[in-house]
Amino acid sequence: MKVYLDNNATTRISKEVIEELSYALKIFGNPSSIHRYGRDAREIIEKARRRVAGAIGARREKEIIFTSGGTEANNIAVSGTLKKYPSKKHIITSRIEHHSVLNIFRYYEEKGYDVSWIDAGSDGIVDTEQILSELREDTALVSIMAANNETGAIQPLRNIVKKVKKISPRTVFHTDAVQFFGKDHLNAVELDADLITISGHKIHGPKGIGALYVKNGVKIDNIVFGGHHERGIRPGTENVSFIAGLGKAAEAVSHQQAGKDYRRIEELREMLIGGLLNIPGEVIINGSPDKSLVNTLNVSFKNIEGESVIMMLDSAGIAVSSGSACTSGAIEPSHVLTAMGIDPVTAQGSVRFSLSKYNTKEEIAYVIKQAGPIVKKLRDISPL
Ligand code: PLP
Repeated sequence: MKVYLDNNATTRISKEVIEELSYALKIFGNPSSIHRYGRDAREIIEKARRRVAGAIGARREKEIIFTSGGTEANNIAVSGTLKKYPSKKHIITSRIEHHSVLNIFRYYEEKGYDVSWIDAGSDGIVDTEQILSELREDTALVSIMAANNETGAIQPLRNIVKKVKKISPRTVFHTDAVQFFGKDHLNAVELDADLITISGHKIHGPKGIGALYVKNGVKIDNIVFGGHHERGIRPGTENVSFIAGLGKAAEAVSHQQAGKDYRRIEELREMLIGGLLNIPGEVIINGSPDKSLVNTLNVSFKNIEGESVIMMLDSAGIAVSSGSACTSGAIEPSHVLTAMGIDPVTAQGSVRFSLSKYNTKEEIAYVIKQAGPIVKKLRDISPL
């Protein structure tokens, strides 16, 4: 049996998205051309923009800027804001962000910016009071993710945005909602963040496509120079077919069916938790599943390496990962688990299971059946 439980790394592209992509690939005109070919391509982009705006509850379609993915959208959000407000030299983010936010903040710190790094508790939730206490007159930007990719921890974002805006209305608020979008209800108007990042491949769409929501009235500078595309914020001839794919994928996650999918996925996760906790020896759940995305479960099998578990599960046809997909291969303990105060040995033993609507009960039963003997075998030979 083959079981794919690495949906926070990427998801299987859906049939409807493939159909949409294939259709759009044939519409080859340049969307900036004014003739019929160009207009046909433009129509595809604007339809996708409507779909994405609808799916994230944006008021206006023009608030959606297509990018080459979550990483680029995060970079535009951070650099675009700092370029716009060059005299403000203080920025705030958390220690549990994805590397596309973490590393750009580190870059600006090296360049002389004052960065306030916000801690997370053992439940993986960032400290709201610390964010508020760090706000200053010259705080250009606060960037806090909506849900964490490794633990699934959902941040109390509405509350954070509301309080930040009250204390510091001129500070730009960005959220990386790459993991949250499609797994929970995202509404840009209710959230009131200025900038929101989403990505196609985490929602059964294509890789290499994403979007940045830029709230009406919020000003950011372009960081790439070119033409007028995407309001000049992200110049370059648009990736028409992938934009169409993102639009279709976004529409699917905003359907009523998505709510039913979340509930079914949560049941599967409950089943998985029950099964894994039955494995003899210490099995620790990292973070708090009831405060996390319904599809994510991060566990540590004490005294064995997560990487070894992953490799043995892989031989049994089961795909999972340890920590962020983007850091797989690196052997240091995850920066997210470390920031949550989890000791290095436990962090090294962590394995992330991330489910999707395509998983079944039979698959989860198979995973549980395979995991027990694998953990036992690794413990028997572990030097730890
Ligand atoms: N932000 C988070 C929370 C992610 O999990 C990822 C991908 O792993 C990204 C951003 C980057 O998105 P993309 O792969 O589209 O560049």
